Amino acid sequence: MPSRKFADGEVVMGRWPGSVLYYEVQVTSYDDVAHLYTVKYKDGTELALKESDIRSQSSFKHRKSQSSSSSPSRRSSSRSRSRSRSPGRPAKGRRRSASQSRDLKDDKKKTIQETSLALPVLVLFKPSENNTKRYNGEPESTEKNDTSCIILEQKLKPDLEIKRVLEQYSLRSRKDDKKKEEIYSEKKTFVAVKPIEKVPTKTKELEFGGRIGTFMLILLLPATVFYLLLMCKQDDPSLLNFPPLPALESLWDWRVFGVFLLWFLLQAVFSLLPIGKVVEGLPLSNGRKLQYRINGLYAFILTAAALGILLYFQIELHYLYDHFMQFAVSAAAFSLALSIYLYVRSLKAPEEELAPGGNSGYFIYDFFTGHELNPRIGSFDLKYFCELRPGLIGWVVINLAMLLAEMKIHNLSVPSLSMILVNSFQLLYVVDALWNEEAILTTMDITHDGFGFMLAFGDLVWVPFVYSLQAFYLVGHPTTITWPVAAAITVLNCIGYYIFRSANSQKNNFRRNPADPKLANLKFIPTATGKGLLVTGWWGFVRHPNYLGDIIMALAWSLPCGFNHILPYFYVIYFICLLVHREARDEHHCKQKYGLAWERYCQRVPYRIFPYIY
Ligand code: NDP
Repeated sequence: MPSRKFADGEVVMGRWPGSVLYYEVQVTSYDDVAHLYTVKYKDGTELALKESDIRSQSSFKHRKSQSSSSSPSRRSSSRSRSRSRSPGRPAKGRRRSASQSRDLKDDKKKTIQETSLALPVLVLFKPSENNTKRYNGEPESTEKNDTSCIILEQKLKPDLEIKRVLEQYSLRSRKDDKKKEEIYSEKKTFVAVKPIEKVPTKTKELEFGGRIGTFMLILLLPATVFYLLLMCKQDDPSLLNFPPLPALESLWDWRVFGVFLLWFLLQAVFSLLPIGKVVEGLPLSNGRKLQYRINGLYAFILTAAALGILLYFQIELHYLYDHFMQFAVSAAAFSLALSIYLYVRSLKAPEEELAPGGNSGYFIYDFFTGHELNPRIGSFDLKYFCELRPGLIGWVVINLAMLLAEMKIHNLSVPSLSMILVNSFQLLYVVDALWNEEAILTTMDITHDGFGFMLAFGDLVWVPFVYSLQAFYLVGHPTTITWPVAAAITVLNCIGYYIFRSANSQKNNFRRNPADPKLANLKFIPTATGKGLLVTGWWGFVRHPNYLGDIIMALAWSLPCGFNHILPYFYVIYFICLLVHREARDEHHCKQKYGLAWERYCQRVPYRIFPYIY
């Protein structure tokens, strides 16, 4: 019979699944067969944990000197110190007096048990002895990560504490919170602790069908793009009318590849221009925050100016339409080369910089999902750049080229109404994404997924060449719609856009500043991680209102193409599948992150995307 380390009833520190946070838990039972402990968190959540995810309370240490430095004046002085730190200044540790060092040494022997009165017991932990040492004393990284330090409530009076625990999962509005804060403010003391340290973790749960699924997708995605483009060129693009395969040599043109490279480099130059504000991303698992320059809209304006100049000198964008397939092949070849580069460089990346979802140890899986979370060359963030620039702005340029091609081929003095609608709706979508560029920093693509084939191909090939399918289709298959129909489609697009934009803004604002007075009327469920889950407003309507808005818009983009063929509806069909799958992935992550609180949220908001349907 295997020996167990922790006894029933013992109070220990249990890791919150999917995170690096440890909370105080009580062991309730042990499964000899599965080697799992059932533990109960203070909020009532019961989970099965492996022994490696449990630690004794005594293994959590903290600096008493820090907790005693809890007066507001002390706190603010430490902050200003860290802000004014220059590389020329000696490390704080070297400046510390002998008595301070002695204090710190003694503190290492003290446990973090003092904080156990506070609920949730949000404790930053160190898995190794080395880390414990750094946690207790090493000041350099405290300074470096000052902005991401977490302030913990502690030493609340027991009666207030019990009240707080009881309220843990009741809904409350920010107004109520404010009142409570006032009540507690005199009794609170704070301890600033160091940021969360990354535990090197392997990706255990494989998504996208695991190794076989990702291998198939690497083949299937490019095949789908070429199939769609070939179909679109046919006079009769019916599903059963399979297009003839083109000669291989006709697919490649070095000049086209050169134009593609030029485009990519031009966008890279635009993104590096020192215009636009610099913002911080969400804290990484090691507490660090990366900086991002927000200048996508400027890049878009500069691109528009460059296009204007080209058109003025009568350089025909029609070239894009004539060589569309070759451009797609060039982009695909480039994205493949980029993915190989990304994978090779990720092999040298430190463990803490690997993506939570792309560190399985299986080459094909990590190659597809992306091994490194934020690959950068200096300050140039490759993933962030590809997400919004060459592909997204490229999509608008392709649409414009299709509009001009339609006018030229059909000898029109003005583009068709259908083409105008498709171009305008998608232009709005792209400009909105660039206008709200900062919002991308809280999306799964940036915070969870690594940069590998999936995003490289998605950003550089799938988005520009598949999302522009309606415009491409309209060039070869003119469709006439009446003004009332156009008006109805426009209304549909506006409804979708309104839901999409307001839902995304509501969540982003809440995540960036939960105390925003504009959100004071919204209610949320507090979670053990400290973040809340909105249960009123858009996020109380369905669990992914932003997806709903996006899908409504996708339908509005296809409708101007009429009902002769299903091909222009590929986007909306694919997009529903994508977002349903993405929603399931997100639910899974949220369940791991928030446990019982997420289940309560699901009870309260039962529909995922479509109200009363799904
Ligand atoms: P979301 O913006 O939907 O973010 C999901 C995250 O929001 C969750 O992981 C959780 O993160 C947080 N969250 C969930 N529920 C709540 C709640 N009730 N209250 C507060 N926070 C909550 O993720 P995506 O990155 O998938 O989508 C971003 C946008 O991009 C969407 O509008 C989507 O439609 C669009 N999109 C477009 C694509 C395209 O190809 N056109 C492709 C994919 C997405 P946490 O709690 O950690 O903050």
